[in-house]
Amino acid sequence: MTTEHNQRIESDIMTNADFDDMSQTIEGSRTCMIKFLRSMVECPAIAPESGGNGEWEKAVIIENYLAKFGFDDIEHYDAIDPRVSDGKRPNLIAWIRGKNSDKRLLVVTHIDVVPSGDLDQWETDPFIAVEKKGRIYGRGTEDNGQSLTASIFAAKAFLDMGLKPEYDVGLVLVADEEIGAGKGMEHLVAEGAFRKDDMILVPDHGEPEGRLVEVSEKSLVWVKISTRGEQCHASMPDLGCNAFRSAMRYGLLVDEALHKRFNLEDRLFDRPISTFEPTKKEENIPNINTVPGEDVFYIDCRLLPQYKVDDMLVEMRRIADDVELETGLKIELTCELREDAAPPTPEDAPIVQRVLRAVERVYGNKPYPGGIGGGTCAAILRRAGHHVAVWEKVNNMAHAPNEYSVIDNLVNDCKAFASLYTE
Ligand SMILES: [Zn+2]
Repeated sequence: MTTEHNQRIESDIMTNADFDDMSQTIEGSRTCMIKFLRSMVECPAIAPESGGNGEWEKAVIIENYLAKFGFDDIEHYDAIDPRVSDGKRPNLIAWIRGKNSDKRLLVVTHIDVVPSGDLDQWETDPFIAVEKKGRIYGRGTEDNGQSLTASIFAAKAFLDMGLKPEYDVGLVLVADEEIGAGKGMEHLVAEGAFRKDDMILVPDHGEPEGRLVEVSEKSLVWVKISTRGEQCHASMPDLGCNAFRSAMRYGLLVDEALHKRFNLEDRLFDRPISTFEPTKKEENIPNINTVPGEDVFYIDCRLLPQYKVDDMLVEMRRIADDVELETGLKIELTCELREDAAPPTPEDAPIVQRVLRAVERVYGNKPYPGGIGGGTCAAILRRAGHHVAVWEKVNNMAHAPNEYSVIDNLVNDCKAFASLYTE
């Protein structure tokens, strides 16, 4: 450990005794946090695409709470949306000013939730919060109510104790995270809400141990493979062209080629390689004695961020051309979904190091920077050139029936955020 590092610890970080006081304050607001999270569940904020009326009503409830808590510096970046009755989707940043305003720490959470899904699978009403066995049940409790509540109450602890965080802390509460982010995160980025050197935490993904600090994501591509031949009787295959045989030939060749060419390993990821999995297969013919004239299947591709999606698609097309030449059948490739990986956030970025220290301080575990196979809205910020860490401690109940938040996670994550604000 360098002298510089030791000095930083002495000068910048709140002493353990002071932090114990802060943890006590946060423990003291346990009941108040539960009440707040309950009110979040009981005001559904669902996107118009999913049949909802947006987030306005819920944002008003949040703002009333913030005013009561003593937050007096709130910026709005609302996005126009004629599909909802208030005509706007709310995006706000609630600030508490720090000892030093040169740098800013931003914590981004989302106000919106997904619909309940099949009600028969819920044991309680998804929009009435129910507390049992140390958990709060309801839609949006874990995604993203837990972190939204915890990030606000961590800042409230500073206000209650008359303390200042190290830097300006902005609680960024966004709309439209579950569907596309056009009226939420993308709108904020376009409006210039973020500065290049902002330290940003997006607590919207995690795991039950709370050790993974996500800094990198793979590209996600779903490719549809449609092969066209000519249908005929199976006893006289020479009269047609078997689309299924051609598709199988392509499937095997492309599987082998992709694994061979994109074979880098990156230990940052839990699954350290790119993955290419043939998954869905559409029905080609209902009976066994007919040669299918058409065939459709899909490949789920998760490409390490070191590779370009375009290079993979060119390779897939090249092999399709070879099989077309060999079999005389047309093969069409289309992307059903394409999310190019954002540039990873370096492990030594200040936000990552600070989050690692804060998590270890509160949970006493050994957190580590890592990558995941899917997409979070941190990608939008990373694409815009920002360093972003993604962390929270969750049981991965997002979007599931009987979604719940563990109350201890709510309270302890709040302490971790408070520790982060002191860094
Ligand atoms: Zn979420």
